[in-house]
Amino acid sequence: MTFSSPLEILQTVFGFSQFRGEQENIINHVLAGGDALIFMPTGSGKSLCYQIPALLRPGIAIVISPLISLMQNQVSALQQLGIHAATLNSSLPPAEAYRVTQQLRQNQLDILYVSPEKVVTPRFLEFLETTPIALFAVDEAHCISQWGHDFRPEYIQLAILPERFPTVPRLALTATADIPTQHDISHYLALKSAKVFKTSLNRPNIGYRVTLRTSQLRQQLLQFLVQHRGEAGIIYCLKKKTVQSIAQWLSQQGWLALPYHAELDSEIRQHHLQRFLYEEGVIVVATIAFGMGIDKPNVRFVVHLDLPKSLEEYYQQTGRAGRDGLAAEAWMVYGLQELIMLKKIFAAEADNERNRVRKHKLEAMLGYCETTNCRRQVLLTYFGEQFPSSCGNCDTCLEPTATWDGTQAAQKALSCVYRTGQRFGVHYLIEILLGKTNERIKKYRHDRVSTFGIGQDLNAEQWHSVFRQLLAHGFVTIDMNGHGSIQLTEKARPLLRGEHPLYLRKEISLSPKRAKKYHR
Ligand code: ADP
Ligand code: ZN
Repeated sequence: MTFSSPLEILQTVFGFSQFRGEQENIINHVLAGGDALIFMPTGSGKSLCYQIPALLRPGIAIVISPLISLMQNQVSALQQLGIHAATLNSSLPPAEAYRVTQQLRQNQLDILYVSPEKVVTPRFLEFLETTPIALFAVDEAHCISQWGHDFRPEYIQLAILPERFPTVPRLALTATADIPTQHDISHYLALKSAKVFKTSLNRPNIGYRVTLRTSQLRQQLLQFLVQHRGEAGIIYCLKKKTVQSIAQWLSQQGWLALPYHAELDSEIRQHHLQRFLYEEGVIVVATIAFGMGIDKPNVRFVVHLDLPKSLEEYYQQTGRAGRDGLAAEAWMVYGLQELIMLKKIFAAEADNERNRVRKHKLEAMLGYCETTNCRRQVLLTYFGEQFPSSCGNCDTCLEPTATWDGTQAAQKALSCVYRTGQRFGVHYLIEILLGKTNERIKKYRHDRVSTFGIGQDLNAEQWHSVFRQLLAHGFVTIDMNGHGSIQLTEKARPLLRGEHPLYLRKEISLSPKRAKKYHR
């Protein structure tokens, strides 16, 4: 196929009438031989930014992508449009790999999707040196950074590409990269002087709501869902077990709810996905296994019953709502228990540097939950965007949070942590503050410490809230290698010395009966 212009390709090959957003600028920039760093939200049409130059520039375009399933999808979509595309990765049967290699050698391909580990093998690099290359496109470029939410060590080796092929245009593309990640991308791919294309990540039609989990989680969920009767939505849970039980329970309540997680039979999974895509008003209850590459325009809500591990993950998942531009809602519940559970999961894994990054991300996540500012502002700031004022479409904008002077309570809590040697978890500390006498407290003689019983002005639930906010604001941390013991940070000192006040969020009031436990 030979084409004269990007627009002609857009119309005749892809069947779209006009370019969207920055697409045309990016394409022209790459056609002129320029490098590009592209930060654009999911669904904004990043793929065309390298696919069209691939067809117009001489030589083959090499697209590096982390997920075999995504590569395969993209390739078959392109083949259906009549484009000569193929993929090389470890999952290919030898005969197929041989066929693709032959096509490559005979210059029959326009676009090759390849895994990062494949592209940096000496043999492949040598081959590339013998053939004209149209461009390199590094998709999901945030995978290159330890700070990214999806770090892949193989990606770092891609740094060899600018060294070996300095004159071939490079594109790095991602939807979600926090600021340190953006720096890493530019560093490893030698894109310091590349042109940056950034469109706002803001999704004004999505309303953000975060609320505290009560012991009546299912009632909370129902109250939310009745506002969305008959609409399609996704409910994310951390565990397969929760997915199963919530889906089953919703079905019993008369909702059209289907489970989706990695351990379901692949046929059932496919079937549920198809129903979600093509039937009206289906709710999918899912683990994070659900969503990659799903492009359904009228998802009206995304619920999180458990905290995602990072704001990137949260933003990606909530971003699946409202692709059609109509009003949609992102609703999340959280409590201290989730956080402790997540931290324990991280602690169970080796590699400490990695854990520190994860912990940092989790803390940003918690900061988002506990903020009294506009949630959209917190999100966009995290991704390096300025968002000047309040958005009017998140809970903190719509119902400004009430606060109370929690200085004294915080001091009591912090000294209780200190007096007991920073070795205990929240639950136990609260028992001491409330002056409970039980075997454990007697055994450690904690009924004799000065903070024993000094917290009877608040109830257990209010103390949970105090500890959660102390954690969110970084006055304490949870020891990841112990059993969730609470420890003081540097920040705790001035607060203990009374050098500044601390205002805490007033939580929604729960009835005394419900105040007892945070469990599901
Ligand atoms: P991203 O990689 O940014 O998540 P994709 O490249 O997968 O987004 O594109 C998302 C969807 O938008 C795809 O279905 C694609 O075909 C469609 N699309 C891309 N560009 C255009 C355009 N100019 N006009 C109409 N649809 C487009
Ligand atoms: Zn807001």
